Amino acid sequence: MATSANIIVGSQVWVEDPEVAWIDGDVLSINDREIKVKCSSGKEVVTNVSRVYPKDPEFPECGVDDMTKLAYLHEPGVLQNLKCRFDMDEIYTYTGNILIAVNPFKRIPNIYNRDVMDRYKGVDLGDLSPHPYAIADSAYRHSFLFPFFFMLLILIIEFQRNIICMRIKDFSECRQMVHERISQSILVSGESGAGKTESTKNLMQYLAYMGGRSGGDERSVEQKVLESNPVLEAFGNAKTVRNNNSSRFGKFVEIQFNEQGKISGAAIKTYLLERSRVCQVSDPERSYHCFYMLCAAPPEVSEKYKLGNPRTFHYLNQSNCYELAGVDESKEYLTTKQAMEVVGISSDEQEAIFRVVAAILHIGNIGFSRGNEPDSSQPKDDKSRFHLKTAAELFMCDETALQDSFCKRVIVTRGESIRKTLDPNSAALNRDALAKIVYSRLFDWLVSKINNSIGQDANSKFLIGLLDIYGFESFKTNSFEQFCINLTNEKLQQHFNQHVFKMEQEEYTKEEIDWSYIEFVDNQDILDLIEKKPGGIIALLDEACMFPRSTHSTFAEKLYQTFKDHKRFNKPKLSKTDFTICHYAGSKFKQQLQALLETLSHTEPHYVRCVKPNNVLKPAIFENQNILQQLRCGGVMEAIRISCAGFPTRKPFAEFIERFKVLAPEVTKLSDEAKASRILLEKANIKGYQVGKTKVFLRAGQMAEIDARRSEVL
Ligand code: ADP
Ligand code: MG
Repeated sequence: MATSANIIVGSQVWVEDPEVAWIDGDVLSINDREIKVKCSSGKEVVTNVSRVYPKDPEFPECGVDDMTKLAYLHEPGVLQNLKCRFDMDEIYTYTGNILIAVNPFKRIPNIYNRDVMDRYKGVDLGDLSPHPYAIADSAYRHSFLFPFFFMLLILIIEFQRNIICMRIKDFSECRQMVHERISQSILVSGESGAGKTESTKNLMQYLAYMGGRSGGDERSVEQKVLESNPVLEAFGNAKTVRNNNSSRFGKFVEIQFNEQGKISGAAIKTYLLERSRVCQVSDPERSYHCFYMLCAAPPEVSEKYKLGNPRTFHYLNQSNCYELAGVDESKEYLTTKQAMEVVGISSDEQEAIFRVVAAILHIGNIGFSRGNEPDSSQPKDDKSRFHLKTAAELFMCDETALQDSFCKRVIVTRGESIRKTLDPNSAALNRDALAKIVYSRLFDWLVSKINNSIGQDANSKFLIGLLDIYGFESFKTNSFEQFCINLTNEKLQQHFNQHVFKMEQEEYTKEEIDWSYIEFVDNQDILDLIEKKPGGIIALLDEACMFPRSTHSTFAEKLYQTFKDHKRFNKPKLSKTDFTICHYAGSKFKQQLQALLETLSHTEPHYVRCVKPNNVLKPAIFENQNILQQLRCGGVMEAIRISCAGFPTRKPFAEFIERFKVLAPEVTKLSDEAKASRILLEKANIKGYQVGKTKVFLRAGQMAEIDARRSEVL
C-alpha cells in the first residue's frame, strides 16, 4: 500500500471516516506521529500518520478502467475509482485480469447486444472498456490459442514456488494439455444480489454468439442452455432479504466445443440447493418461486392439486411475504410451463412435477398429536388427515405407508430391523426431512432432464465452464448450511489467490523482471481447521454423529476445547436442529465440493467479482462501507494486496516520461525510453524499482515519492 512517508503540509490525503469510510482533505500540520487534516466536509481531524494515505493529485476525472493504472493503489483510491465510474454508468472495472462488476440495479442501454459483441470479438483484454464480453472472449480464445509459452511459465512457477510445488506431479498432465488444448473456467462471485446470475447470462450470451452454429431448424445447444434458466430459477430461486430473485443453488455450466470451435454440447451441474427453505422461511423472505406460482395457477389446475391461497400452507405462512413487486404469479406459472416445454419436459412430466410440488405443501400441513401407545404419534385432526390423504394421492403412494414414514423409525441392530414409534415432535421433524429430500431430488431430476435434452458431446475437444455460486453468507445464527456455503467459498478463494499470484508472475515474466521474492498469502489455515483429517471440524462432526449420546452441546464443547487457541476459531453457536441436518448434508456435500474442485483444477480460470452497491436494491446508491466490506471479503483487496507485495504501479515509458520530465528535461531528447526512464528514477532518488521492456514497475508508495520530488521542482 502507498505509504504516508511523503506527506507534507498542504498534501491532499485520505483519512478514515466512520460514515463514508474514507474522506479526502488537506494536511494542515504534521509531526512525528500525528497529522491534522481539514476534510472536504469541513471537519478537522487529528489522526495517526500511519492511518493517512496520499491522494493522487492527478486522479483522472473519469477514473481508470484498470485498478493497476491507479497512481496510488490503496483502499481509498480503489473506492474513489469505482465510485466515479459507477456515477457515469461505467459499472465494469478491471483489476488486472479480474473483472469487477458493480450492480447498477437498472438497465444500462446498449451495452449488451450483437453490435457490442461484434466489437469485442477477437480484441485483447484491456483494449476496450471492461466488459463481461471481453472476459468471455478471452476465455474463448485462450482455449484455442493455448500458448506454448504459458506452459513454460507454469513450469517455472512450479519449480520456484513451493506453494505450487505440490502440483509438480501434474507435469504429465500439463504436457497433455498442450496437445488437447486447455479448458477454461470463468468464476463469477459476489454476495447475494450482487449480479452473479446476470453476469453469467451475459457471458453465456457471448459464448453462444462466438460458438453458435448458424442456420438449421433444430434449436441449438446454446439456445437450450439459455432457455434452461427460467426453469431452474422457478425451482431454485427465491426472494431473500438481499435479492428478490436469489439463486439458492450453485451452478456450473460446462459448454463443450468441437474441433471447429463450435458448441457441441453442454452440461449443467448444480450444487448445494438450499433445502431448509422448503420448510422454513422467515419474514421478509419467501420459499421457492414454484410454490407460489402453482397456488396462483388457473382454477382448474389449482383445484386438481387441491391448492389455493398460499396463506393456508404452513411451509409458506411462516413468513408474511407472498407477493413480489411487479410479478404476476399466474403468468409466471404459464411462462414456466412454456420454458419446461422448450427444454424438453413433456406435459405428463410437468404434471408429475407439479404433483410433487403440491404434495410437499400438503404434507407441511400435517400436524401430529400423541398416539395411543407411549411415545407414539398420529395425524392430529381431520384437517391433518385430509392433507395426508391428499399428499398420498398426489405422490401416488399408500397412505398408511406415508404416515408410517413420519410416525415410525426403522432401527437396524444385529441384522434385525425394528420399527420404533416416534413422539409428535420427532414425527414433525421426519415430515420436514421428507419434504426437503423430495424437493431436492425433484430439483436434481429436473437438472438431469435438462441435460438430456441439451445433449452431451462425449468427444468434445475442449470446454468452457461457467460457475455461478452464492457468496459468503452471514446471518445472526449460522446453520450448517451456511457453514457449507462458506467452506465452498473458502476453497474457491484459495483457488483465486493462487491464480492471482500466477497472473502477476506472468506479467513480470513478460516484462523480464525479477520476481523471486514475492510473498504469497493464503487461507490454508482456515481450510485446515475445517477439513483436516483427523482433527478438523468436519472430522469431529462425523465422529460426534457416530456416538449415540452426543448432543449439540457435547459437540460444541469438543470443538471449543480442541480449537480454543486456534486463531480462526471462536466459540460456536449451533442449535439442536442444525445438528440433526448436518450429518446428512455432510455425508453428500464433501463429494460435490471435491468434484467441483477437481473440475476447476483442470481449467484455466477467469474471474468476475460482483459487487452490490447498496442493500436497498436501488440504482444510483453507492454505499462506501458496504462496498469496501465486499471488496475485502471477495478477495479484491487481497488481489490488490498481492499486487502490492510486488510492483503494483506500472507506467508505460512514454506516460512515465511525460509525467516526470520536469525532473530532467533533457531526457525527452533520448530515443531509448527505458534509459530515459531510468535517468528520471535516479534523479528522484528511487531505489528498488524495476524497468521492464515497455513499462516502469514501481513498489507501493514510490509513485508518491516521485510526485513529491516533482512538486518540489514545479
Ligand atoms: P445474484 O445472482 O448475485 O444473487 P442477480 O444476478 O440475480 O444476483 O442480480 C440481482 C438483480 O440485480 C437482478 O435481478 C437485476 O435486477 C439486477 N442486476 C444485476 N446485474 C445487473 C446488470 N448488469 N444490469 C442491470 N441490472 C442488473
Ligand atoms: Mg444468482
